[in-house]
Amino acid sequence: MSTEIKAYGARDKTADLEPMTIKRREVGPKDVKIEITYCGVCHSDIHQVRNDWKNSVYPVVPGHEIIGHVVAVGKDVKKFKEGQLVGVGCMVDSCRECSACKDDLEQYCENGMVPTYNGKDKHLGGHTFGGYSEMVVVDQDFVLTIPDNLDQKAVAPLLCAGITTFSPLNHWGVKEGDKVGIIGLGGLGHMGIKFANAMGAHVVMITTSPDKAKDAKRLGAHEVLISKDEEAMKEHTGSFDFLLNTVPVGHDINPYINLLKRDATMVLVGAIEPLDAVHGGGLVMGRKRVAGSLIGGIAETQEMLDFCGEHNIVSDVEIINMDNINEAYDRVTSSDVKYRFVIDMNSLKN
Ligand SMILES: [Zn+2]
Ligand SMILES: [Zn+2]
Repeated sequence: MSTEIKAYGARDKTADLEPMTIKRREVGPKDVKIEITYCGVCHSDIHQVRNDWKNSVYPVVPGHEIIGHVVAVGKDVKKFKEGQLVGVGCMVDSCRECSACKDDLEQYCENGMVPTYNGKDKHLGGHTFGGYSEMVVVDQDFVLTIPDNLDQKAVAPLLCAGITTFSPLNHWGVKEGDKVGIIGLGGLGHMGIKFANAMGAHVVMITTSPDKAKDAKRLGAHEVLISKDEEAMKEHTGSFDFLLNTVPVGHDINPYINLLKRDATMVLVGAIEPLDAVHGGGLVMGRKRVAGSLIGGIAETQEMLDFCGEHNIVSDVEIINMDNINEAYDRVTSSDVKYRFVIDMNSLKN
């Protein structure tokens, strides 16, 4: 049993996104049915639509920064009720039995978590469809509660860009007084600045473009370091407690390793592709570490949302209608967005 609903997706890797009809399963005992109000536009959406990671299944209906209202719940659902504002992020299921799932790290599920779109649909067969659609049916364990003091349209990007940057800052224990560098100012970087600032760190925006300095300070950076300025880079050598690297493409990370203090860590969250060769000396001298991090588990995502409620943190967003999506993709690709597009899903209904 399933329901046909309106969605927006791509039929192949060269096609524009266009209206289409998809199926959603009926509400099972543990399911929550959500009418989608807003959906963020993540860089991964574009990678998947264009098959950059060579694993796309068409049609692709992207969207994993979903905000909406509960319109129905299954009989075993206790946590959610009709009318409640909720969110869904990058995953909608996992095995729940492996060591990662037992540690609340479903994103690293050893049997493979189920991505919100382009994942294997256990219920209807075929693959999952994301938030560029009217509604979605999701297991209650993968539904998040949204603090009601936050502007819902600006909350959407927290479900991916937010947790992607919060999780490493949280996991590596960034605290008051730490000197933290955020590398790259885009959808991820702008959230990194806000979180590190709220955690009490001394935040340094590290960017190639001097014209981003003013905005970085408005977002909460205390200093701006231009990575092309060799003198300035030298002055900051060996001084950072933590670096969050949000650059979305392969690049040379050696200059950043030099910025780390002894025993300090740089965490990569943006580039899921080869990097330039790393010089072992940079790591050996000072016992430095380079690590990676993928989104966050469901429990930590809720912790992040609650932190945002407490500190009044949301994304800086630009609202678009569904039929502006192809133009928005071009603008994301050329870094022309401050700092996240969010689709008003009401525009899909008309
Ligand atoms: Zn994303
Ligand atoms: Zn698992």
